[in-house]
Amino acid sequence: MARYREAVCRLCRREGIELYLKGDRCFTDKCAIKRRGYPPGQHGQRRPKHSDYGVQLREKQKAKRIYGVLEKQFRNYFEKAERMKGKTGDNLLMLLERRLDSVVYKLGFTPTRRESRQVVRHGHFAVNGKKVNIPSFLVRAGDVIELCEKSRKIPNLNESLDAVVRKGIPAWLELNREEFRGVVKVLPVRADIQEPIQEQLIVELYSK
Ligand code: SF4
Repeated sequence: MARYREAVCRLCRREGIELYLKGDRCFTDKCAIKRRGYPPGQHGQRRPKHSDYGVQLREKQKAKRIYGVLEKQFRNYFEKAERMKGKTGDNLLMLLERRLDSVVYKLGFTPTRRESRQVVRHGHFAVNGKKVNIPSFLVRAGDVIELCEKSRKIPNLNESLDAVVRKGIPAWLELNREEFRGVVKVLPVRADIQEPIQEQLIVELYSK
């Protein structure tokens, strides 16, 4: 499956905000956006022009980059969100948030969505007792997400879990640290999603 393989800090610099794609490093002085807070490339330091279209486009790119989704898949989420009841923008974010890689990240098994995607791909997780290695798998209310028995000694996953016990997890999820298991108590609503995304701009962009 296609995915972005370049330096991820460039994505933050392009969007002009921290997207927290590198875990703990993002909270240190090594963060690229703190050191070079302008877009990458030869013309990065020029004053940017912001048309309505440009602002909407940047918002869509930002959402894609936060969730690690490429254009075609993002468009599919949008079309699915349009067919659902309720506000399209809210539905879009809720669909993205329900991806298994995002849930694994939110439960604290890894410090970034990128790493979550990788550990899911490598078959370290089971949903309701069945191994699932599809990062885009959409969880439902009541689903139990569990780290497979053989993967429970992986140091990085344990360190990340210890850190999240201190930081906390969203109210719609529940974590049992000792059992390496998380539960989707309810599906997330818009208020549960803290990512800095103005979804209305994305709806406007795709509605042109
Ligand atoms: Fe973005 Fe993190 Fe890189 Fe900073 S360190 S630019 S927040 S990915």
